Amino acid sequence: MTADGGDIFSARWIIEDAFHSHNDYALYVLDGRIAGLALLAELKSRYPSARVHSDTNAAILPGFVNAHHHCYGVNLINQGIRDDLLEPWIFASAGAADVAPRLATEYAAMRLLKNGVTAVVDACTAGHTAAFVEAKIRDKIAVYNGLGLSCAIAPGERWHNQLVHPHGQSQSFLTTLPEVLRCKLQRKHVARTRIDPQSFVRFLSRMHGEYRAFECADVWFGPTAPHWTGRETLRDIAREVSKSGQRIHTHAEESRLQHLSATAWSFQGAIAELGKAGLLSDGLSLAHMVWAGEKDLARVAEARAHVVCNPSSNLRLRSGIAPAPLMKRMGINLALGMDGTSLAGDDDMFAEMRLAQSLYWSSDRVNPSLTAKDVFDMATMGGARLMGMDHSIGSLSVGKRADFVILRLDRLEGPWLDPGIDPVELLVSSAKSADIQSVFTGGQLAVSHGEAKKCDEKRILQNITDGMQRAADQRLSASEYAAVKSALQRWYDGWLTKNAPQ
Ligand SMILES: [Zn+2]
Repeated sequence: MTADGGDIFSARWIIEDAFHSHNDYALYVLDGRIAGLALLAELKSRYPSARVHSDTNAAILPGFVNAHHHCYGVNLINQGIRDDLLEPWIFASAGAADVAPRLATEYAAMRLLKNGVTAVVDACTAGHTAAFVEAKIRDKIAVYNGLGLSCAIAPGERWHNQLVHPHGQSQSFLTTLPEVLRCKLQRKHVARTRIDPQSFVRFLSRMHGEYRAFECADVWFGPTAPHWTGRETLRDIAREVSKSGQRIHTHAEESRLQHLSATAWSFQGAIAELGKAGLLSDGLSLAHMVWAGEKDLARVAEARAHVVCNPSSNLRLRSGIAPAPLMKRMGINLALGMDGTSLAGDDDMFAEMRLAQSLYWSSDRVNPSLTAKDVFDMATMGGARLMGMDHSIGSLSVGKRADFVILRLDRLEGPWLDPGIDPVELLVSSAKSADIQSVFTGGQLAVSHGEAKKCDEKRILQNITDGMQRAADQRLSASEYAAVKSALQRWYDGWLTKNAPQ
């Protein structure tokens, strides 16, 4: 792109945000930012030395925000790890190949970018020491920012309930397993070295301070979930957050078993615990919330905390369907996440929006269905607000970063297209990542016709193949998995029968 006169991009539609689309408009991009949004003729006369890129059969839309993601490396199904109920699946997925974090991030970032995602919340595992998580955070930020993606890195750990809920039952669960399996789970899940919670809190607070001035990177607290974190650590996090305003991202109310077993010990449920710790605020984002009840949602709404819905993941891990229409009616800011577990494992945000619109349907007039514009807003501005970056990303408004997608309309148009069609309706109903012609981050070409322009795709893919060949196979065998699964089933059945609500 020319640095001097800037660039004008014109298309049939410019989708500024979910609620504002413009016909025959153009964007003027200068120094990586959107410096103008107006009719093409007007921009041409205002900026005569700008280079003009015109495509009358394309739409230009803001880059997507994937507000909840994990870098699993190669798709788990390709590693022979099948979808299942969240609880047994956690044991299966823990056996995935341990690819180096930097490489797994490079692979994930490249895939996201090709799908038009230009900002991401990366919920990762902290690891065994502060030095390890420091290197991981720096690598992740370098990779994402290197490709022009904005990012928030939210590391967490499972210090509690490593095998089952409720708290303190892991050892008695282990006794229900055959010895070989007991040793494996003990080693992999219970005895695994984790950064201690105090160092974790101190360290993440320091890292946040270091990246505070960055426009496109942030370091958050990512307590994996309240029941996996523990009350004391949540309070320690709250103490830091009250001083610095650092954001927090956590899984909450994801599965039915988490929901049922959470309230039966001294722990009082995810939202109550976050509230007690002093963490319910507008800096908090909650992933999933499938099983949250109306009272909890009212507290979330009152605190102006954010929710990120992950429809594909909730289907694949048998968690259910989040009450998004109710959340929306309550005024909760909603974002969209792919959780590293999109329905076809392809990170296609168009498919994710389509699924969200189909699932977050409601026959209840009090809590109306989510519209195409609602889900498009979740995938763009909703995520930007959740990240606290809505001043710089999430829409094509003047002054923001020039992160945008050019989408070809040929396939969508077919033999006939109603001239009055709403472009957001059309894209949410019918577009696919395959229709993306190019992706720009910070005004620079990052993807063109499916080819990544800011990284060496061949090298990344070769390194992934090599990394997979070298990685130790830590998977449970089919018979071990079947044994764990039936032990879990017995455990929760027995436990829920004994503790059935009166
Ligand atoms: Zn997740």
